[in-house]
Amino acid sequence: MNLETFKWDVDPDGIAHAIFDVPGRSMNTLTGRAVADIIAITKEVATNDAIKGLVLSSGKASGFCAGADLGEMGDRAGGAEKTKKSVDELKKEQFDAGFSLNGTLRKLETCGKPVAVALNGLALGGGLEVALAGHYRVAANDNPKLQFGLPEAKIGLLPGAGGTQRLPRLVGVQAALPLILQGESFTAEQAKAMGVVNELAPSSETVARAKAWVKANPKAKAPWDEKGYKVPGGVPHKSPGVGQVATMANMMLASKTYGNFPAQKNILSCIYEGIQVPIDAGLRIETRYFINTQQRPEAKAMIRSLFLSMQELGKGANRPAGHPKTEFKKIAVIGAGLMGAGIAYVQAKAGIPTVLVDVSKEAAEKGKQYSVRLVEKDVSRGKMTKEKGDALLALITATDNYDDFKGADLVVEAVYENEQLKAKITKQAEAVLGDDAVFGSNTSTLPITGLAKASKRPANFIGIHFFSPVERMGLVEIIKGKETSEATLAKSIDYVLAIRKTPIVVNDSRGFYTSRCFGTYTREGMEMLGEGIKPAIIENVGRQAGMPMGALEVSDSVGLDTALKVTRAMAEATGIDLQADERTNFLAWLVEDQGRVGRKAGKGFYDYDEKGKPSRLWPDINKQLEIKIDECPPALKKELMNRFLVRQAVEVARCFEEGVITDARDADIGSILAWGFAPFTGGCCSYVDLIWGIKEFVAEADRLADKYGDRFRPNKLLRDMAAKGEGFYDRFPPAGTKAKVAA
Ligand code: NAD
Repeated sequence: MNLETFKWDVDPDGIAHAIFDVPGRSMNTLTGRAVADIIAITKEVATNDAIKGLVLSSGKASGFCAGADLGEMGDRAGGAEKTKKSVDELKKEQFDAGFSLNGTLRKLETCGKPVAVALNGLALGGGLEVALAGHYRVAANDNPKLQFGLPEAKIGLLPGAGGTQRLPRLVGVQAALPLILQGESFTAEQAKAMGVVNELAPSSETVARAKAWVKANPKAKAPWDEKGYKVPGGVPHKSPGVGQVATMANMMLASKTYGNFPAQKNILSCIYEGIQVPIDAGLRIETRYFINTQQRPEAKAMIRSLFLSMQELGKGANRPAGHPKTEFKKIAVIGAGLMGAGIAYVQAKAGIPTVLVDVSKEAAEKGKQYSVRLVEKDVSRGKMTKEKGDALLALITATDNYDDFKGADLVVEAVYENEQLKAKITKQAEAVLGDDAVFGSNTSTLPITGLAKASKRPANFIGIHFFSPVERMGLVEIIKGKETSEATLAKSIDYVLAIRKTPIVVNDSRGFYTSRCFGTYTREGMEMLGEGIKPAIIENVGRQAGMPMGALEVSDSVGLDTALKVTRAMAEATGIDLQADERTNFLAWLVEDQGRVGRKAGKGFYDYDEKGKPSRLWPDINKQLEIKIDECPPALKKELMNRFLVRQAVEVARCFEEGVITDARDADIGSILAWGFAPFTGGCCSYVDLIWGIKEFVAEADRLADKYGDRFRPNKLLRDMAAKGEGFYDRFPPAGTKAKVAA
């Protein structure tokens, strides 16, 4: 056999041993070549009489297999235009390809010879599915990093190599549903308790135990091929209990995802239908759902953004080359308020000595208490040992003395949003900092180039924009000022990676990229309110469009006073007269007349309970605004959903045209991680490229502009892209990747 990704050996007793070991990779994935090798191995085991059984294991220390090769899949995930092929054509064309591994694993399972799998490390997705097709699984009990799971749903896919059929047949529908729908991983011990693995053993013994089992069981069969097999716990259409679980799962899914995630919908149907029929038919049902899911633009978009781009940005893909990596010895944070306190915590958590400065030692200590509370919570929940917690806290020095941050590699300024104050702080800090130290401002709105004027070395000045709450938000927006040097950018990216967050890089402008685009969502909500649309409709439709919160609730969270301030500041900067602007006047009435400034005051568009949870929409909104639309038929729902998402995407296009953002990958990941742009779309750019197609998007934006105003009007860039049939990923390809990828 000519195998490339497996090592192959047959012992004198006829027991074959196939060691999965993709050359040149630290982790095995199911590349096209690996699948071809599994097909060849299966054929050999099934047809060669001299082979009595098979043991599968891995040659990688990291584990057995991480699943499908998403890099290969991702190559197919670009394109500006929707494919011209019909879904039926695609389904037909893809069935054989889709069923090749699935059908092969079934052949292996039914070849009459025993197959055992030794699992020393992780087995995820397709990796676990291959293992499930064996008759016996031995997992290592001495590898704390070992994890099993079917995480496909997390990136818009459906396990397509038997996972949706074998796992429920092994552990029961009730136990399998959350594992497959949510894609959470589980440990070797949990796998043993559920019956996913048959035996636990030290890593050094798993292969020998697997071999011993094969020798002792010359005629193995899967449980579901035995006479009288019954699905543990019963099947939904016969057992009322399991039927109820399936119904509940359907309801929960609908209430959480509003039908926006095709993968989860298909997984439910696939398990429900597949479990009622013999496994051979179930596997064919799975392949049909797999193809349907994989062909959906949502899957392509999610694989590209949530897997490939996240991985690339997480490795510093947008870091300028040629600058040595910085190992941070000390970082100062100025301002120990909401943001500074969170920033100090994430730095200390990453092991970086942190100096936290405020106007007084007490104020700085108060900021440090935030870390104390987070550590105490983790320790009490067993997530952190007391020693680790103490060591983390010992890394934070709370002070009012600037001299304490002498020798810091970087400073993050997080004082009040006030230009004069920030200028004063810059000068004070630079008086103690070394020449190479970087000064990063966490301003959320003030242009970096303007702030850098206070600096005597603007090349070292940069925007490092965190999101709240800092310890939970994964994104940091890095803003280059006009004079920011590449070395400063490189150091800032090193910093963001060191604190284990994902950096995107943008150019300077008011509101930068994230605040500017995100603001269009909340403002569109205000427009709808002004049109007399009932607030509850606005809120529900926002969530149904895929946004994490309704537009009015988000506005409350940001603070209506802040929204008013930003609106006025922007109008002043751009020379717009707000006197007759009804939306602003309404906001001013809420804030200035009613004192309803949002969640922090317990009242805004919503009333809030003592825990800060919204209890109801404030009924008196209607006193100021006349409600003209209080029903939402499907056509209106679609119209409003499109308004919300198209408006944001048009703003993103404007940011590209103005050079605020330059890489489609940054724009997509920024939109999902910063303000929760409907994740099933893969982000704002993928929403245009893949969910609409560029020409269709421009036509829709024009239609909305004609009806609702020029804020929707496509800019020159969008028109040009539509004329050329180019998407954002064609026009602004991620640095270092192929520009045009076939749809
Ligand atoms: P905050 O009011 O909670 O904290 C500001 C802190 O700065 C206070 O502790 C104050 O005592 C301290 N301070 C004031 N003058 C100082 C001085 N001379 N020296 C040292 N410390 C001083 O504010 P915040 O919400 O943490 O925001 C801080 C910055 O972060 C602002 O620029 C804001 O725009 C930005 N930001 C805020 C958010 C957010 O969600 N709150 C998000 C991103 C960015």
